[in-house]
Amino acid sequence: TVVYLNGERVDYENARISVEDRGFQFGDGIYEVVRVYGGRFFYLDRHLARMKKGADEIYLDMDFGLDNLEKVCRQALKESGFKDASVYIQVTRGAYPRQHTFPPESSCTWVVIVREAKAQPREFYENGVMGITVPDERWNRCNIKTVQLLANSIAKEKAKKAGAYEAIFHRGGCVTEASSSNVFIVRNKKLLTHPANNFILHGITRGVVLEIARDNKIDYSEEVFSLQDLFEAEEVFVSGTMTEVMPIVKIDGKIIGDGVPGEITRSIMKAYDALTKTIDQ
Ligand code: PLP
Repeated sequence: TVVYLNGERVDYENARISVEDRGFQFGDGIYEVVRVYGGRFFYLDRHLARMKKGADEIYLDMDFGLDNLEKVCRQALKESGFKDASVYIQVTRGAYPRQHTFPPESSCTWVVIVREAKAQPREFYENGVMGITVPDERWNRCNIKTVQLLANSIAKEKAKKAGAYEAIFHRGGCVTEASSSNVFIVRNKKLLTHPANNFILHGITRGVVLEIARDNKIDYSEEVFSLQDLFEAEEVFVSGTMTEVMPIVKIDGKIIGDGVPGEITRSIMKAYDALTKTIDQ
């Protein structure tokens, strides 16, 4: 595991953050997780662009510079020697004696952690996994990838306790996304996913899936769908940087479609897999 703290390489054991860090006290920070396949970054550019947008949304001035962050990500990966890795990036508003209002001067804490990543079990992708549904109790700005993940964490823990892979959120009966992934359904052979508004994270993988659909002439629409649509769907899958494209075949104990990964899901998985072998940006 390679760690960079504020642009400097530090030993994992000695990497320390102040007790006054606003990430710790207020959840005042944002993060990204980027996947590396065969030594190639999978859309680092898109992750950094989303991070900049999120920073602007919370009035966070990334004073160290986005180019510098990109350089550190690439350097850290090189030093790690890992071919398949996850790169965790976190930026907080830094350390300052505790007060709700922002520190008078910007001095971010920023961290890059590179870990070796191994693929999830093949059976998950081949057979599909289970999901549960939970009410979406998060705030109204889910498009910002903040480190305030308590609601997501509780939801995922519930899924784990139920023996499921992922927890799918709904707001008043409308499916938004999942605890760490976006949700897609196939209804009447058409791919549907929640619109990219303030109720979901605009997943990089979600965007890639929509591009795959467009390029492969799969009919799709970004529109709100209900819990009933979810249960009655022909196919369901979730998408995320670490999740990739994961078929869901059972939700709250009810079988989805034929109970196996569907045709459209499998074609998207295949196209996604091909991209992981070529994309380098
Ligand atoms: N939705 C939530 C709540 C997430 O936490 C994540 C990823 O961690 C995603 C969606 C998927 O986003 P991406 O495809 O950019 O990894």
